[in-house]
Amino acid sequence: MQDNPFRSTNLALRFMLLATLLICLIASGCSGAETGAISTPVAPDEPSATRVLNRQLQDSEDTREQRQRLVDNYIAPVVSDARVVAASQAVPRHCFIPTESLDYAYYDHALPIGYGQTISQPSLVATMTELLELEDGDRVLEIGTGSGYQAAILRELTDEVYSIEIIPQLLDIAREVLDALDYGDIHLLRADGYNGWPEYAPYDAIIVTAAPDHLPTPLVEQLSPEGGRMVIPIGPVGNVQTLWLVIRQQDEVQMERIMSVVFVPFTREQDS
Ligand code: SAH
Repeated sequence: MQDNPFRSTNLALRFMLLATLLICLIASGCSGAETGAISTPVAPDEPSATRVLNRQLQDSEDTREQRQRLVDNYIAPVVSDARVVAASQAVPRHCFIPTESLDYAYYDHALPIGYGQTISQPSLVATMTELLELEDGDRVLEIGTGSGYQAAILRELTDEVYSIEIIPQLLDIAREVLDALDYGDIHLLRADGYNGWPEYAPYDAIIVTAAPDHLPTPLVEQLSPEGGRMVIPIGPVGNVQTLWLVIRQQDEVQMERIMSVVFVPFTREQDS
């Protein structure tokens, strides 16, 4: 019996279509180019566990539920300011985390974000934010943008957020994520935050998310003399540090010890 040439052409066509579809699926899976993810730069010498490949930028019912549990179990019990609790519920933390650690985005843990840095523990972010006593319209400066998560939390509470990061690659990633999540009006600067950002001083609040071994004088000088508040971990590199609340009244600086913490080191421009 002779083969029907029309039928075999039809089969070949179907096979080709199927193969094309498969190739497309594999390609989009590998590049992370599916909707909601963006590609980000990778440092060639980074260990693979901390490589920053892409970010999942979609919020879903599942991620919202995970966040709700994190807030109910770990944030609401330690933070009494309802606005800070609401901000923790609003900001999708998983969008600030490299894909390798996505499964842990809503654990109350610090996580690696690449370049030897970490995103802080969510309950600690909330605690430090509450200490700033931010009011709408306040101007706040963060030193150590890192992933951008803390900056987004601050932006939920006031519309004037400034943040400085020393590692350019981290700043680029933070900018992309913040823009994609509609936090495009957060002001970011690549610099050594030791010197603050004098152009926009004074700040009603300053938050430092890396630990120097002493209180940087320029930051005190840029704190509002009308009761400006700064939250800062201070202590030896690679050891337990003390989290301080610094309150400035004119030329008087009052320091209150809050708790022991462990933060990544505050690096200086000449170190890097
Ligand atoms: N707030 C961040 C936590 C980042 S960890 C977040 O929400 O993800 C601390 C960050 O401080 C790191 O990204 C580190 O590169 C940065 N850093 C350290 N020393 C700095 C300095 N002198 N100036 C600015 N950023 C600094």
